[in-house]
Amino acid sequence: MKKALVLGGGFAGCTISYFLKQKGFEVTIIEATEYLGGGCRTFFYHGHPYTYGPRHLIINKEKMFLWDYFSRFLTLRQIHHHTMTFVGQDNRFYTFPIHVDEIEDMPDKDNINEELKNRGDVASAKNLEDYWINSVGEILYNKFVKDYNKKMWITDDNRSLDEFAFSPKGVPLKTGSKECFAETMVLAYPTELDGYNSYFDKCTEGCNIIPKTFVEKIDIERKRVFVNDTWIEGDIMVSTVPVDLLFGYRYGPLKFVGKEFLKIILPVEKITPEPYYFIHYASDEPFLRVVEYKLLTGYKSSDTLILVEFPSMKNKLYPYPVKSEIEKAQRYLNSLPQDVYSIGRLGKYHYNGMCDVVEDCMKLQDRL
Ligand SMILES: Cc1cc2nc3c(=O)[nH]c(=O)nc-3n(C[C@H](O)[C@H](O)[C@H](O)COP(=O)(O)OP(=O)(O)OC[C@H]3O[C@@H](n4cnc5c(N)ncnc54)[C@H](O)[C@@H]3O)c2cc1C
Repeated sequence: MKKALVLGGGFAGCTISYFLKQKGFEVTIIEATEYLGGGCRTFFYHGHPYTYGPRHLIINKEKMFLWDYFSRFLTLRQIHHHTMTFVGQDNRFYTFPIHVDEIEDMPDKDNINEELKNRGDVASAKNLEDYWINSVGEILYNKFVKDYNKKMWITDDNRSLDEFAFSPKGVPLKTGSKECFAETMVLAYPTELDGYNSYFDKCTEGCNIIPKTFVEKIDIERKRVFVNDTWIEGDIMVSTVPVDLLFGYRYGPLKFVGKEFLKIILPVEKITPEPYYFIHYASDEPFLRVVEYKLLTGYKSSDTLILVEFPSMKNKLYPYPVKSEIEKAQRYLNSLPQDVYSIGRLGKYHYNGMCDVVEDCMKLQDRL
């Protein structure tokens, strides 16, 4: 039986293990923590289920085979995703993405409308600031985008962010429905209170899992890693750990940013006005976002759990949106030897969601 070595047992590591088993591989997964699922794992805080950052499935309407794929493992519930942003300058909350109807309620609506009439050319934008100013004008950029992104990417200048395809949640300026992604995507979440946890177990059933083992020493040419005083080798290796680590930082380290999460239980049944359950903070608060989990997970309780998200350099959650880092990552990816694959958010250095990961795993399975 051919052996596959999978580095990292997060969402991508578990998913590819499922496909590798179907191809007849004997799979060994090496995971740094004691849990499978990485950032998508559900934990419980005094009974309340939560993940570190909300993780709903964002399924392209033209790719509903992904809904069917997840339904093999989980029972999905459709979610209608609504986000609001606190704009300190106006002392109020607005829908995000910015909605044209709400501009009429803004104190400076005349100036905003004037800017909207004279918008620049979005296609020529060279950085995140240009992109947004050309899309919505300077006033709306200052209210909703400027400080949020400076916080998120831990930068003093959004002009340093020259890759910005990740930016709008659908479109920069919305008309019609206020629901995020409503035009192109279907959003879903498992009805299971433990979220995707049973997915990770089912995907990895029968695999040899080595938990609490941080992979550092990797011999990429021989498809082996040195852990717990011994070399473990595969006929193929699928890595989901940061691609710079996979290569021993040969071309230099890649920049990532992360987040830290503060959990707070509050003695009320519900805080955020439905249908909203995400609140972004776009001013000088030290935090980025507050999420009320029960509205996503469906958990019933007389109290509620919120997680407050702070920007951080202490963990690696987001590839950094600048071209030079993306080019460096591509250099790594172009250097992968035969039978070594690098997938997932850290492995591809790409702002991938869960559905992208599943699609990549399906494509990889076809190549094997
Ligand atoms: C805050 C946040 C919110 C998100 N929300 C959504 C969402 O709503 N919808 C969506 O589709 N996607 C969302 N995503 C993206 C989604 O979480 C990723 O697509 C998915 O987690 C990618 O899986 P992965 O395995 O590549 O990474 P991860 O899930 O992060 O797993 C990586 C795994 O590798 C392990 N690991 C790392 N280094 C080593 C090492 N050296 N040795 C051994 N193990 C190692 C980690 O412990 C972890 O288990 C979100 C991401 C973040 C950060």
